[in-house]
Amino acid sequence: MQFSDFGLDNKIMSTVEHLGFKEPTEIQQQAIPAAMTGHDLIASSKTGSGKTLAFIIPAMQRLLKNRALSKRDPRVVILTPTRELAKQVFTQLRMFTSGSQFKAVLILGGENFNDQVKTLEKDPQFIVATPGRLADHLSQGHFYLNGLELLILDEADRMLDLGFAEQLAQINKAADHRKRQTLMFSATLDHAQVNDFALALLKKPKRIAIGSAHTEHKDITKRFYLCDNLTQKEKLLQHFIAKEDHQQMIIFTATRADTDRLSTLLTEQGLSTVALSGELNQGQRNQIMDGFSKGQQKILITTDLASRGLDLINVSHVINFDMPKHTEEFVHRIGRTGRAGSKGDAISFVGPKDWISFKNVEGFLQQKLTFDTIDGFKAKFKGIKPKKAKVAVKAQDNAKSATQVKKPKAKKIVKKSFLAEDVGDLPVLKRKQAIAPQDIEDSEFEEQN
Ligand code: ADP
Ligand code: MG
Repeated sequence: MQFSDFGLDNKIMSTVEHLGFKEPTEIQQQAIPAAMTGHDLIASSKTGSGKTLAFIIPAMQRLLKNRALSKRDPRVVILTPTRELAKQVFTQLRMFTSGSQFKAVLILGGENFNDQVKTLEKDPQFIVATPGRLADHLSQGHFYLNGLELLILDEADRMLDLGFAEQLAQINKAADHRKRQTLMFSATLDHAQVNDFALALLKKPKRIAIGSAHTEHKDITKRFYLCDNLTQKEKLLQHFIAKEDHQQMIIFTATRADTDRLSTLLTEQGLSTVALSGELNQGQRNQIMDGFSKGQQKILITTDLASRGLDLINVSHVINFDMPKHTEEFVHRIGRTGRAGSKGDAISFVGPKDWISFKNVEGFLQQKLTFDTIDGFKAKFKGIKPKKAKVAVKAQDNAKSATQVKKPKAKKIVKKSFLAEDVGDLPVLKRKQAIAPQDIEDSEFEEQN
């Protein structure tokens, strides 16, 4: 199949040619024509498979072919969970809109509010945004969505995980007319929370799934290493940095504090390192991502702030220094490498505090994961037997409801079975609490101010 088979406007075709893409990827082959017929879509395909153009192209086509419903309101709104991803989507969109009659703007948390008000006054046809800030402008009447034709949610599941359901509902309500079309994209869209949300937002959606989130990503080689503790993790990391032939590397840690600590450690060792965390101001965040994408540093250390969507073509290695709290983020983190057909390596460290997360990932991927070893690195830790883990879960539950008198006893059991500690983060078992919007780590994503 060729891009020319879609019957696209010449302007779109010339941008695609300029980008040098020979043929549409599988998700593009299916999603572009389906979106062009006006269907709402829930579309999923593996990381790095070209989902961005699968929504930008039909959006652009719609604007070029259809009359606007309103002269002033935006016609297309694209939402993403993080500012970095919004910027990246915006850059791709601009390749299509530049030289056209359409204006595209970027509205992000962390940037000057009043400047954004002025930008919105110019009546852009496309808005790419993070949901919190866009909802703020909507509440304050800086723009209206009565004429919105297309609402696109990239990494929709992550926006829900981060607690943006309310803002999404507000945006949805402001544009809830018969003619609106909605598209949802992610590599992981099959959990129940997404389904409920999709039913509320989408009208008779068509589901397109290329493979499943559980399917092996053939271009990414996964390796797992057992570790006893933080010191051993640090030694292993230094080993891989020295021995693995890598272009660029992203190291994921559990928390901002871990990111900072590791960054200091590696910088002291003279390694070319940069750390991205949510506590930096937006200018600093932009500078870091620009520098890293230009190859100014070899190593980026970060949290799940950077797990989604980022397309950094020279990243040959992803290292999970800590396993992720949210199981799906494993798929997204390792998906920062092995993009658009290139090969990548994903190395994960599994210590006692990562064990439950590791087992969850194993369950999610529906495959038995095995551990690799390296000469000179031997961990005493061999995993936690299911029975022990169960006892520990029970002990933790008891600990929660225990009275003052009972508490010390429960605590002791939990500690013994490794479950209440994590490398500088909330215990893995507290996942339910961890996904609440007020969660410390997820406040990385707050879009206000
Ligand atoms: P996803 O959203 O599925 O993770 P992206 O949209 O970020 O993937 O695309 C991944 C990479 O593939 C990008 O560098 C993009 O430019 C490239 N790409 C997109 N479409 C094609 C295509 N048809 N042929 C080759 N490369 C493509
Ligand atoms: Mg994407």
